[in-house]
Amino acid sequence: MFVEIEDLKSEHLHVHHIFPVGEIKFIHEDAALNEPVTADFVLSHIDRDLHVKGTVQTAIHLRCSRCAKEFSRPFSTCYDLSYLPQPKWTNDDSEIELKYEDMGVAYYDGIAFDVDLMVLEQIELAMPMKFVCREDCKGLCYKCGADLNENSCQCKKEETDSRLSVLLDFRKKMDK
Ligand SMILES: [Zn+2]
Ligand SMILES: [Zn+2]
Repeated sequence: MFVEIEDLKSEHLHVHHIFPVGEIKFIHEDAALNEPVTADFVLSHIDRDLHVKGTVQTAIHLRCSRCAKEFSRPFSTCYDLSYLPQPKWTNDDSEIELKYEDMGVAYYDGIAFDVDLMVLEQIELAMPMKFVCREDCKGLCYKCGADLNENSCQCKKEETDSRLSVLLDFRKKMDK
């Protein structure tokens, strides 16, 4: 979905758009979008300088990084961004980039604003670094692979027992 800047009539354009599943090309090893993505925003502009403020809502399907269980979670993010026509690059490219980096400023071609790309970028930016099905997920036993949320295995217990007995032996020797 593109907004042609030439076609912008008033100063504010309200956009409410629902992208069907698969339309936003989100690619991630352990995550997928499995519900439509709803974008709601107001696009205002002064000539070709754009300002976009709104939300993106969907649900993400994730794989827990501890127990490998798959789960879905509602996902929403807000943004408040400025898009400027791509400047003519000079030798000072990097300086311009640095200057705008922390100010929520991005560039576009000055002709058409790519809504899909903006939505995709906002989803990628708001993705959590680590996916866990729940805060206290115990994960899988690294020895036997048992899901420790559902059943406890003997591995850990045995290990602590043997560690403890080594310690006790040591104490015994010290006591002698
Ligand atoms: Zn988990
Ligand atoms: Zn185990």
